[in-house]
Amino acid sequence: MGTHFNIAVIPGDGIGKEVIPEGLKVLQAAAGKHGISMEFTHFDWSCETYHSTGKMMPDDGLEQLSKFDAIFLGAVGFPGVPDHISLWGLLLPIRRAFNQYVNLRPVRLFEGLQSPLANKQPGDIDFYVVRENVEGEYSAIGGIQYEGTEDEVVSQQSIFTRKGTDRILKYAFELARSRDKKHLSSATKSNGLFHSMPYWDSRVAAMAKDYPDLKVDQFHIDIFTANLVRMPEFYDVIVGSNLFGDILSDLGPACTGTIAIAPSANINPEKTFPSMFEPVHGSAPDIAGQNIANPIGTIWAAAMMMQHLGSQAMHDTIMSAVEAAIRDRLSLTRDMGGTASTQELGQAVTDLI
Ligand code: ATP
Ligand code: MG
Repeated sequence: MGTHFNIAVIPGDGIGKEVIPEGLKVLQAAAGKHGISMEFTHFDWSCETYHSTGKMMPDDGLEQLSKFDAIFLGAVGFPGVPDHISLWGLLLPIRRAFNQYVNLRPVRLFEGLQSPLANKQPGDIDFYVVRENVEGEYSAIGGIQYEGTEDEVVSQQSIFTRKGTDRILKYAFELARSRDKKHLSSATKSNGLFHSMPYWDSRVAAMAKDYPDLKVDQFHIDIFTANLVRMPEFYDVIVGSNLFGDILSDLGPACTGTIAIAPSANINPEKTFPSMFEPVHGSAPDIAGQNIANPIGTIWAAAMMMQHLGSQAMHDTIMSAVEAAIRDRLSLTRDMGGTASTQELGQAVTDLI
């Protein structure tokens, strides 16, 4: 019997609904080629669900998802529903309940695309951002005091646990070890954040002792972002807290021509729960419904999903097709300087497979 995977599919809002079908089309084609069977179960959880039910997903949503091999997500969030509801009602609970503590975001300049940075060639931009995905700065701890008075005080607490810090660092160190450059850069801000970042730095230094084969460095987030734009070729594996990793993983793809090609893998490395794969971009309400959204970020996320599930062959097949479509500038969408529709680009990649 061949391999079989059960995938939960949440298209979500806006262009999420337009790019997910292209990802599924590509997955079906690649699965057919490799004799793998895939079953997709759709969940229409979105801001529309929120409008009709008052919830982004049903109360047993997490339990339903827990039975799948992986989750394939478009984007959630739409004008009319506050971000804290769309995020804290669906995305963040999934990341946290399923212990998807690694957010892995590869950044690569493809042949055929122009970097907005001068004189950059494809090999110059090729790195990973490893973002801590469940703790750190993104917490609901804090609040407001003396509300409504001139003395209002708001506090927002960050949480860095030793387990949480060490496990994300370990993932990043191992990833760096698996790469040719063997270079790990840690994003910090220990001159401004009094407790959390010196702690983060100390855990990096402690772990570096176990990885003498790696070049390990750290920079404050301000100069880090400046360097990333000035000399992206310097970077190989970047590790950062939830907030810093978030910022760097938008900046990275922006240096490769368009954020729309960037994928995001929310990984539970121990595989005790399903992991979740999505494009980096959001629901892009400004272009929703126009059939011009670029599906490459979603397709690349699909490739990462197959790699996580153990099918390196399916990953490679999908990525070769993506590389060829971009290199030969077949049916590219507007954000990549073409005129094709979402479906035409999805079809071009599918045909190459
Ligand atoms: P979120 O808050 O969910 O991150 P956002 O409002 O910040 O969403 P994004 O969806 O991340 O916006 O995208 C920013 C802009 O980039 C969009 O408004 C859109 O113009 C463009 N964009 C994003 N994704 C794509 C895509 N797949 N194809 C083409 N353009 C895109
Ligand atoms: Mg955004």
